[in-house]
Amino acid sequence: MRGFVFDGLQGNNEYIELIKLFLRPSEFSTDGAAGAEGAHRIDATDAAAAGDKNAVKRFLYDRLAALTGRSPAWGILTGIRPVKLFGELAGEAGSDEDVARARRRFRDEYYVSEAKTELTARVHALQRALTAPPETGSVGIYIGIPFCPTRCEYCSFPSNQVPYARVAGYLAALYREMDFVAEGLARKGLFAESLYIGGGTPTALNEADLDELLGRARRRFAGAKLAEFTVEAGRPDTITAEKLRVMRRHGADRVSINPQSMNDETLARIGRDHTAEDVRRAFRLAREAGVPRVNADLIAGLPGEDAADFERSLRAVLEFAPENVTIHALAVKRAARFKERDAEYGYARAETAAEMLRLAAAALAEAAYAPYYLYRQKQTVGNLENAGYARDGKLGLYNVRIMEERQTIVALGAGASSKLYVPSENRLTRAFNASNYEIYAERLDEMLERKRRLLFE
Ligand code: SF4
Repeated sequence: MRGFVFDGLQGNNEYIELIKLFLRPSEFSTDGAAGAEGAHRIDATDAAAAGDKNAVKRFLYDRLAALTGRSPAWGILTGIRPVKLFGELAGEAGSDEDVARARRRFRDEYYVSEAKTELTARVHALQRALTAPPETGSVGIYIGIPFCPTRCEYCSFPSNQVPYARVAGYLAALYREMDFVAEGLARKGLFAESLYIGGGTPTALNEADLDELLGRARRRFAGAKLAEFTVEAGRPDTITAEKLRVMRRHGADRVSINPQSMNDETLARIGRDHTAEDVRRAFRLAREAGVPRVNADLIAGLPGEDAADFERSLRAVLEFAPENVTIHALAVKRAARFKERDAEYGYARAETAAEMLRLAAAALAEAAYAPYYLYRQKQTVGNLENAGYARDGKLGLYNVRIMEERQTIVALGAGASSKLYVPSENRLTRAFNASNYEIYAERLDEMLERKRRLLFE
């Protein structure tokens, strides 16, 4: 391996992110080091000096594509919200002509592949058809429960495995924050359009605590204009008939049951501590409880799985006809145990994961699902995207809003980050809660003060 040395790019993370689409971190240097003898030297000094970031990215893409023979499907896009960019390029009116121009710019200026341009344009079109812009005064509410029965190998979320007795202190703090936010919203004349209980795994709570949490959430936030109430029940082994009845009683109308894989060996390998049979049981219970919208998450690129394994999981999930299916490309982030074992896993599995996404898109289209939201994360296998699919137009509104970034999100609990939307500047400003659940409870007053200044002044 000869290695690559880049000149003129020091310290620019966007450029480094782009290079990483082509080269493993061990294969290149941008710090001006002389590099190994015989290394390819790519001098971007002149391109960078011209000051047009996209031009620099195209310069790098062209050179690297020629040298490596690779052509990453998302082109020079390193951001996480392609649909938002597409919408900006298409403009508010979004006429057929505007959309055609946005498509051309995606391909010609951003080097996005035909397939990914098509996917983005379809998501954009469906969102425009099915959602109106957020109403003035509306917010999305997120409430985080940072506990799970075990830790998945790939997890990089707030997730704690603790004796149940410790949950009480967290909930007491969370209830204080809920009261504080409800009072602030009322004072400012704001209202919840969507309510999302996520985590972690909210259904890791026992039935009595879940009842208390959802009852409080309903009383504080579920006004006449609430359009969606989602509860993540990600780990099927935590779902009981009674918990589903509790959800329905408090008005939850969307429940996310996340198999990730329907292959028992894979589930054991990734530390999920449940079986495919647990998933089947959870889906049956959700239907018996009358949950109107069920989402199922699957992950492409899990260890030991080939495309056929993934397709079997997807077909097994489709037997339950969930209203939403979300296909994630495995993210191998720093916090995941995974990465500790194999720093270059994401590169090695890129082709397999891309094949899985192609299979998923075809199988879901055949089963009458349409892509309705789309986002990218850093460090996913093959730098691939996550996409949510919906049938019968039943999309997940909170997910769409998060990606649009045109609505304030009030986020409660450990690790939650609130985002105030400032329409006059079309931008978000943020306030963070501590991610450690004990520090969150101990220092809640500081976080409430931050929230007050951000949202309720
Ligand atoms: S269920 Fe989600 S939050 Fe919990 S350990 Fe697994 S990946 Fe992390």
